[in-house]
Amino acid sequence: MESLDQFTARKLAAIEAANQRRHLFDHSRSHPMQGVRRAVGGSEGPPPLTSFTDNDYLGLSTHPRVIQAAKDASDTYGAGSGASRLVTGNHPLYGQLEAKIAAFKGTEDALVFGSGFMANMGVIPTFVGKTDLIIADELVHTSLHSGIKLSGAKLLFFRHNDCDHAKQLLRAHRHQHPRCMIVVDGVYSMDGDIAPLKKLAQIGQVFDAWLYSDDAHGFGTLADGRGTVAHTGAGGMVPFQMGTLSKAVGSYGGYLAASKSVCDLLRSRARSLIYTTALPPAVVAASNAALDIIMTDKTLCARPIMLAQKFAEALGLPRPETAIVPVVIGAEKAALGASQALAEAGYLVWAFRPPTVPEGTSRLRFCFSASHTDAQVDGLIDACKTLKI
Ligand SMILES: *Cc1c(COP(=O)(O)O)cnc(C)c1O
Repeated sequence: MESLDQFTARKLAAIEAANQRRHLFDHSRSHPMQGVRRAVGGSEGPPPLTSFTDNDYLGLSTHPRVIQAAKDASDTYGAGSGASRLVTGNHPLYGQLEAKIAAFKGTEDALVFGSGFMANMGVIPTFVGKTDLIIADELVHTSLHSGIKLSGAKLLFFRHNDCDHAKQLLRAHRHQHPRCMIVVDGVYSMDGDIAPLKKLAQIGQVFDAWLYSDDAHGFGTLADGRGTVAHTGAGGMVPFQMGTLSKAVGSYGGYLAASKSVCDLLRSRARSLIYTTALPPAVVAASNAALDIIMTDKTLCARPIMLAQKFAEALGLPRPETAIVPVVIGAEKAALGASQALAEAGYLVWAFRPPTVPEGTSRLRFCFSASHTDAQVDGLIDACKTLKI
């Protein structure tokens, strides 16, 4: 018999040998208005690095108005929410936030969850179950995998962004199942490319399959901040528009923008909404303040992609459609080495390894934020050229 210690030691040794061991590092994210510099290793550690790794696409996590809104809400409503939303945790800030999301997305209603992960875990199993079918892009986010698994539906993957393959699978399998969902990311987090949502929605209409789009990386940056559905001209055709409040919005939480009846069913059935404590008031207030900024400042929303395109052009990389620029290196060790070399030059750029990305495609992932200065991007370009990245 293997003891618990033996089991964990054996698992960790295998992860270590594959160069896939992960560690937590302390990062102090910077003060408002100082960009995205961060101290690594505390005051005794190496000098601060300029981060091109955060998902804080608009710098709103450190925006003074967002921080002030969080402080005010704590004063008014307390630090915690005290209970589930369905009991007494539903402070009035939720209603304001949901109305704003629905208006911005152009949907009848919206529902805020504890996180994007929890939204995916709660929504999918509410609408499809054991006898149903899910067709998913092979590169969908791991939180979607978890929601899909929880639903118990039969799962088939189509090749990345390959609408013809999706159609083939539907033609062969759709008729055997009462309900069907097509699950995709709006923007793929490790590749930075965009799902063909309009075409997929049309396919969904032909085969009576509901399209579910996870827009964690499009919301706040594409189409004046409205996200990938608006960007791809699929407005009104995507019944499930999920997203997060923890990336461009700079706060925390997840949402689903959908019809009133879809949101109403979730209020009565989504386990990850019902059986968990409501978000702290400060968090919801921060999202509200950040959304006010996003909905009125188109220049801010456009800046991350503009900077990504400037960077890619300078390095002769393909023109990015989003604020994410991947540079695939291949082996885990080589990707870690490139990340380390950039850190020595003053830039924090994460190396992503399996299982986050497919085997043999370890990569650097550059994320651009509206809070980066032109000079910071120029410096990064110079460093990449020097290091031949
Ligand atoms: C980050 C992310 C999530 C999870 O959102 P959280 O609010 O951080 O839990 C879900 N889907 C995608 C595609 C993501 O990138």
